[in-house]
Amino acid sequence: MVEEYSPRPVPARALALSLPALAVPVVGALTFPDSLGEYGVLLWLLALVPIFLLAYYRGWRGVAAATATGMAVLSLTQVLVLVLRLPQPNWLMLLAVVIVYIGIALGVGWLSELLHRERWRAEQVSLTDPLTLLPNRRYATLVLYSEFSAAQRGRPLAIVFFDLDHFKAYNDRFGHTVGDDALRALGRVLTASTRHMNLSARYGGEEFLSVLSDCDVHGAVAFAERIRAGLRAESLRGGPLTLSAGVAVYQAMMDDTESLLRAADRALYEAKRSGRDCVRIADGTRQLEPDEHGESRTATQ
Ligand code: GH3
Ligand code: MG
Ligand code: MG
Repeated sequence: MVEEYSPRPVPARALALSLPALAVPVVGALTFPDSLGEYGVLLWLLALVPIFLLAYYRGWRGVAAATATGMAVLSLTQVLVLVLRLPQPNWLMLLAVVIVYIGIALGVGWLSELLHRERWRAEQVSLTDPLTLLPNRRYATLVLYSEFSAAQRGRPLAIVFFDLDHFKAYNDRFGHTVGDDALRALGRVLTASTRHMNLSARYGGEEFLSVLSDCDVHGAVAFAERIRAGLRAESLRGGPLTLSAGVAVYQAMMDDTESLLRAADRALYEAKRSGRDCVRIADGTRQLEPDEHGESRTATQ
C-alpha cells in the first residue's frame, strides 16, 4: 500500500457556504414566523447543504458532523421559538422534515463513502507497481519532487538507483516467471529495509529507485549495501543474482530532480562499467570497489 486512506481537508469556501445554509432557517423561524406560515419548517431542508458539502470532502465523518450541527441548531431554534412565545411550527411537519433530513443524510453518507473509497483505491492502483507492490515511478517522482524542495531548504537528501546485473540473460536462461520472482524478491528486500520516512520504488523494468531523506552519502552507501546483501541472502529459483547501485546526494548547484537523477544514473553506469555487483557514488569523489566477498569497500579515486 502506498498510503493510508485519509479524507481530504474541508476548504474554507465549503464552510462559508454551509453557515448561511444553516442561518437562513434560523433567521426565518425567529424573525418571520408568521409570513413563513406552517410550511416554514421546510426551510430546514436547506440544512442539507452542509451535509452534501462535507460528505464530498470528509465522507461519513463530514455527514456526521454536519448532521449533528444541523440537528443542534434546529433544536436550539425550536427552544427559542418556545421561550420567545413565537408562533409554533407544525410539529407533525417538523417531525417529517427531521425524518427526511436524517434519511437523506444517511443516503448521502453511504454514497460519498463509497465514492471516496473507490477513488482512493483507484489512486493506489495508479501509484503501485502490480508485480512487486512497491510504489511505481509516478509515485517516486512525486515524492522526489517534494523531497527535492526540502533539500533546497537544507534537509539532506540522497537517492540510490539499483539495477539487476545481467537480468536479460537470467530471463533468457530461466524464463520470465523466474525473472518475475526475482523482481518480487528484490521488492521484498527493499520494502523490509526502507524506513517509513523513505521510499523505494520500481522505477522501470529491473531498475529501482530509493529516495532517502535526511540521509548523507555514508548512510546511502550503507543502505545500498544492505539491499545488495539482502538480495544475496534470498534463495532465488534461478540462482543468485547481483545488483549494481549508483548513489547521488543533493548538492546546492542542482537545479532540479533531473540533475539528481542524472547524477545517480551516471554513478550506476560507473558501477556497471566497473564490472557490476558494486556501489558507486556520483561525481567521483569517493569510489567503492567490490572485495572478494562481493562487499564494497571505500577507495579514493
Ligand atoms: P545490465 O547488467 O547491464 O543491467 O544488463 P541487463 O541484462 O540487466 O540489462 P538490459 O537492459 O539489457 O535488460 C534488462 C532486462 O530486464 C530485459 C527485460 O527482459 C528484463 N525485464 C524488464 N522488466 C521485466 C519484468 O517485468 N519481468 C521480467 N521477468 N523481466 C523484465
Ligand atoms: Mg536496466
Ligand atoms: Mg540490468
